[in-house]
Amino acid sequence: MVDFPASPYRVPYDGSFRVAKAPTLAETDGDDDDKEALRAAVSRISDLQGRLYAHNRLAVLLIFQAMDAAGKDSTIRAVLSGVNPAGCQVHAFKSPSAEELDHDFLWRTTCRLPERGRIGVFNRSYYEEVLVVRVHPELLAAQSLPGELEPERLWAERYESIRDHERHLARSGLVILKFWLNVSLEEQTRRLLRRIDDPKRNYKFESRDVTEQAHWADYMASYELALRQTSTPWAPWYAIPADDKPKMRRLVAEHIAETLESLHLPYPELPRRSRDELDELRRTLKARLKG
Ligand code: ATP
Ligand code: MG
Repeated sequence: MVDFPASPYRVPYDGSFRVAKAPTLAETDGDDDDKEALRAAVSRISDLQGRLYAHNRLAVLLIFQAMDAAGKDSTIRAVLSGVNPAGCQVHAFKSPSAEELDHDFLWRTTCRLPERGRIGVFNRSYYEEVLVVRVHPELLAAQSLPGELEPERLWAERYESIRDHERHLARSGLVILKFWLNVSLEEQTRRLLRRIDDPKRNYKFESRDVTEQAHWADYMASYELALRQTSTPWAPWYAIPADDKPKMRRLVAEHIAETLESLHLPYPELPRRSRDELDELRRTLKARLKG
């Protein structure tokens, strides 16, 4: 089992998590430079990604969930900058298509899990099925689910399916880290206003974000339940304070770097025979240089 970082932001596995107690602003330690710390963590991630690729036994899945404008996109960009693009796969999950709705709720993400040796990133994920769908249960009507719809049983079964799914994936060599970027209602409001006021940010503004904000309390209740039910020793959640973006990016990068380091990934060593073969091939190549 992976030794996930025991950070103050890790959601406990005993179901005691409370959104009201989760900070949206991290404590700062004086003159600590977040941008410099982010650069250092990204450089560690970049080196470890090379090892993950060479090792080719494990894969890493980073799941990001958050309210709108919490900074998912910019955090993903920041923590993966400098990492070999060939070793990363980023997928964003929006409202499901008709084809996706015709399958079970884990199907569309399963098809996009990272291969061994890669880092996969889910910008939103199957967790939407217990977040936005729980806030708007009318979305279930489009899912053509079998049998009677009993909401309470349905949510309990979805949490169970997610826990089992992640356990299976973890046993198969997937290292799953989940980040909830925890932005406050006030800060989200400021960011949405900025998207209206700043012409360069207008393209990011969606009126739907304002209507969804009216359901804030319901979203927080759904996050609380989902994180309580699905933070496990094999796939923990980290509730990262998101009101200060540089601090948030740094914290996410440091948690990823620490997790990758705990895997103790060696560069694979060649067996003796291969070493002898390499010596022989080296002699052949050197002889060609002389010739
Ligand atoms: P941006 O930062 O650009 O707004 P985004 O991730 O919010 O990025 P959008 O296209 O605005 O992207 O939103 C995607 C929408 O799709 C979200 O409102 C999300 O709740 C919704 N969505 C994702 N998965 C599901 C799902 N399984 N069922 C219903 N809605 C979903
Ligand atoms: Mg959006």
